[in-house]
Amino acid sequence: MMPLISSTSMLQQARENGYAITAFNVHTLEMLQAVVEAASETNSPLIIQSTVGTVKHLGPEYIAAAAKVAADQTGLPIALHLDHCTDFATIIQCIRAGYTSVMIDASMLPFEENIQRTLSVMEVAAAAGVNVEAELGKVGGVEDDIVVDERDAMLADPDDCQLFIERTNVLTLAPAIGTAHGIYKGEPNIDFERIAKIAEKVEVPLVLHGGSGIPAEQVRKAVSLGMSKMNVATELRIAFSDAIKEVFTKSPEENDPRKYMVPAKEAVKRLAIEKMELCGCIGKAGTLK
Ligand SMILES: [Zn+2]
Repeated sequence: MMPLISSTSMLQQARENGYAITAFNVHTLEMLQAVVEAASETNSPLIIQSTVGTVKHLGPEYIAAAAKVAADQTGLPIALHLDHCTDFATIIQCIRAGYTSVMIDASMLPFEENIQRTLSVMEVAAAAGVNVEAELGKVGGVEDDIVVDERDAMLADPDDCQLFIERTNVLTLAPAIGTAHGIYKGEPNIDFERIAKIAEKVEVPLVLHGGSGIPAEQVRKAVSLGMSKMNVATELRIAFSDAIKEVFTKSPEENDPRKYMVPAKEAVKRLAIEKMELCGCIGKAGTLK
């Protein structure tokens, strides 16, 4: 009987060994099953994650129950993570439901308040054996029109990262380094030098947000520099939805959900395996201590 595990040890091991764990945002049972099958077929550790919106949509108990079945049936190291949460109540609700990792996103607050918010979540999380991810700087949306000066101000400062870790001892950090949520119109503008500087100053696993649509070479480079978790959300949603649209284009009268959910699930699974290959976490499930 394999329970869900905290994301702490798998991320630390990834950081020590220069690869990254893929963290997939799921919105339906089929999407969850798809990323679990991807991990199972490739013997990879896995982080299943949901946004606050999905928690409200499905209910944290349903999501946690499905993730627990996945861990039990596959025997893989699987963590269940709450992505970008700003409110304390949802964090507590998810921990109670069985989430093993939570993100407190207080990056919009002043530095000192971000530290205090992170510390208060860590106190609760520690009691439950749950990992905490904090954010510094602001990960933009691709729709945001940002001028260069503003962009620079949004990115995480390496010295701030060091101070933040010293003050909080948080075990996972998402520093803004130029990626954005959504799908990039052109190439993403990743500040690799900044990743290297941050990784030099802090030893904790770093999280690459906005992993959808980053060119393969850039993902590999970011991972080699110290990014130990890559979040993928939008691209999975698109693969899932496009597969469903294709079924309805061919058969507009289709009314058996299995007929469109099966290809949608396959599309998500294929994409998840591609992302795992890029991150280098394939085959790493058995190596976890
Ligand atoms: Zn994010």
